[in-house]
Amino acid sequence: MSFSYADVRAAVPTISRHLPPTPMWSYPVLNAAVGATVHVKHENAQPVGAFKARGALNLLASTPGRGAVTYSTGNHAQSMAWASHLFDTPCTVVMPEGANPAKVAAVQAWGATVILTGATLADAEAHAVDLADRTGHRLVSPGDTPELLAGVGTLYQEILTARPGLDAIVVPVGSGTGAAAAAVVAEAVAPRCEVIAVQSSASPAAHDSWRSGALCTRPNKTRVEGLATGRGYDLPQQIMRKHLADFVLVSDDSIAEAQRLLAAAAHTLAEGAGAAALAALLAFPDRFAGREVAVICSGGNASPTELATLSPDAQVADHVAKDRGPAEGGQQVA
Ligand SMILES: *Cc1c(COP(=O)(O)O)cnc(C)c1O
Repeated sequence: MSFSYADVRAAVPTISRHLPPTPMWSYPVLNAAVGATVHVKHENAQPVGAFKARGALNLLASTPGRGAVTYSTGNHAQSMAWASHLFDTPCTVVMPEGANPAKVAAVQAWGATVILTGATLADAEAHAVDLADRTGHRLVSPGDTPELLAGVGTLYQEILTARPGLDAIVVPVGSGTGAAAAAVVAEAVAPRCEVIAVQSSASPAAHDSWRSGALCTRPNKTRVEGLATGRGYDLPQQIMRKHLADFVLVSDDSIAEAQRLLAAAAHTLAEGAGAAALAALLAFPDRFAGREVAVICSGGNASPTELATLSPDAQVADHVAKDRGPAEGGQQVA
């Protein structure tokens, strides 16, 4: 398994044939709240509501017609189903029995077959391995698949083409494909731009694997689905170890607060994972003060239950009011 910037360059025409560049906007009220110039990269605007569409598209374009088997509880499943539909090739997604019914329905709506089995994603993975073995379909690991990283890398190519002078890009991490791809692209085209990864402190497997230099498993208790992994993945970890500037942890509650702030100050509905990068800016204000930073709004697939937890509260107003005073900032979110 290997992955380099050349793979991202090769993926660019494939991605742009099917997906227009996503918008990246800066919002004065948000900038004031954070104390930095923040560029929000809107991957929530992808057809499946998450950046993973890019990876699945690149994978399916490189091996069309073969059929894929994968395992996932969320956006990876939807992305594989969407891209398989686009290339008219069979896709089977194995999910744990307790999987969110709305996500199951979304995957089925793209024409993929869903198999519900076992209690955990690890059980689903074991079943998928066995199924791929029996059918000859390609087993697609959500983390250890170079074509996925190459497709996802086009996101960072877009960002750094638009804003080559960025000081930092903050990337939410589950398996680490996004952060690994970001770090490789930044090193190639904008070496002074730091790539900083962020994960939930309630599911720190990728963070701890990176810090310790060895793949590890950790409790996986975050509410934030896109960041919920219980183990480190080999390929992204190898890359992150070489190229990542830093890796930070934020709490689930601070992620929810960042979701509210994106809604109030950037008229953006993010799922938790899509707000984690902003949560890192809020958690480490000194580190980002006065700098120019891109945050990846990686997805917008918030479930109704998740949305219900985001009812307005005073915290957003506090943040917005902090730097600018109520006259400028506070009224915007009232
Ligand atoms: C998968 C996902 C992530 C994490 O990406 P990895 O490449 O697995 O680290 C972040 N945000 C959203 C919305 C996701 O779906």
